[in-house]
Amino acid sequence: MTESLWQATRLVTEAVGAHADSWDRRGRLPDAVVRDLSRRGLLAAQIPAEYGGLGLSSRDNGEFTAHVGSLCSSLRSLMTSQGMAAWTLQRLAGAGQQAAFLPKLAGGKLAGVAFSEPSAGSDLSAIRTEIRTDGDAVVVQGEKVWVTGAAYADLLVVFGSYREGAGVVIVPTATPGVRIHRVADPLGCRAAGHADVRLDEVRLPADHLLSASGAPLAMLVTAALTYGRISVAWGCVGMLRACLAASIRHTSVRVQFGKPLAEHQLVARHLGELAAAAQVATLICEHASRCWDEARSDLVTAAVLAKHVAARNATQGAAAAVQLLASAGARDSHPVARAYRDAKLMEIIEGSTEICQLLLAEHALAGSR
Ligand code: FAD
Repeated sequence: MTESLWQATRLVTEAVGAHADSWDRRGRLPDAVVRDLSRRGLLAAQIPAEYGGLGLSSRDNGEFTAHVGSLCSSLRSLMTSQGMAAWTLQRLAGAGQQAAFLPKLAGGKLAGVAFSEPSAGSDLSAIRTEIRTDGDAVVVQGEKVWVTGAAYADLLVVFGSYREGAGVVIVPTATPGVRIHRVADPLGCRAAGHADVRLDEVRLPADHLLSASGAPLAMLVTAALTYGRISVAWGCVGMLRACLAASIRHTSVRVQFGKPLAEHQLVARHLGELAAAAQVATLICEHASRCWDEARSDLVTAAVLAKHVAARNATQGAAAAVQLLASAGARDSHPVARAYRDAKLMEIIEGSTEICQLLLAEHALAGSR
């Protein structure tokens, strides 16, 4: 473990302590904690040092993300959004825009990324948000839904149509015309600040429109989602590790039919499957991060694969953990119950399970031609 990764892990462990359950119940992370982690660069730890970031590799940031995911998926969700916003700037913004915005994301400001709309979920080609230039301003009109972290955000990275293609614009949430409404009662990741966002004739300086705007939507969205998918996948690894540890602890001491649960073969089978699910998810995430760190051409597919496998394993693994703990894990306050709710959402975001399957099938078919 590198020194930076060790420090990051220590800081976040202290910050979360034993609070994840109460934050989940309140539906809000303490602002002071979120700001402090952001100021230390921990919410987007891959931002390069030249912009004030920690410059972690994808592999180190992945292990860090897994650690946060094992403690609190709401906080991990904010990390995914902040890191995805930063990566979108690195990939799609000009040098001046990167110099203006990346230090903010490494130094205390919070960001969310807005693709989804009421009529555009899996099918982002149905996006209706319009980005247009008007003299020396850029104007945004539209509606976004379920934006993770929007309830905390200072900045939103908003995708919309622009000229013949698509555009990406940085929207400070304090700008007139921006209205943010929290999503009520989410199934899981309850403190992740999911919110719907209305953008009514929001006028911004022209330099808030990222340089790559005008390119095809699929290209712009894939750039952002590739980071998000790897981040979510590592978060799922963390949930799996937490579920495995809780299951081992419980089944080693709880005695039924005269011996510890773990010594009953059908219980041991669950433990074996959970251990396999955690290990497979880890290996597939390590592969995706290696593709990232080596800038390999198969990165996009590796990210889809990692997200798909890790999210499915986390959903099944968390369900197995609840089964193993039975009544002991069947209360909202237990970490395995929280993981059970949080993991299911990982099969919906950053490309649902079905969308990942379609993308992987497309890749397999293309490879066989
Ligand atoms: P739909 O697109 O209506 O799909 C419904 C079901 O049909 C799904 O199971 C889907 O897989 C399936 N389906 C759809 N099309 C096909 C097909 N062609 N073939 C097979 N099956 C199909 N959005 C943001 O922009 N930013 C965020 O930060 C963000 N965070 C989120 C966090 C959470 C917890 C959740 C729940 C959502 C978040 N979203 C965010 C929205 C998310 O991206 C969408 O929910 C997701 O893309 C699915 O869209 P949908 O919910 O409209 O489902």
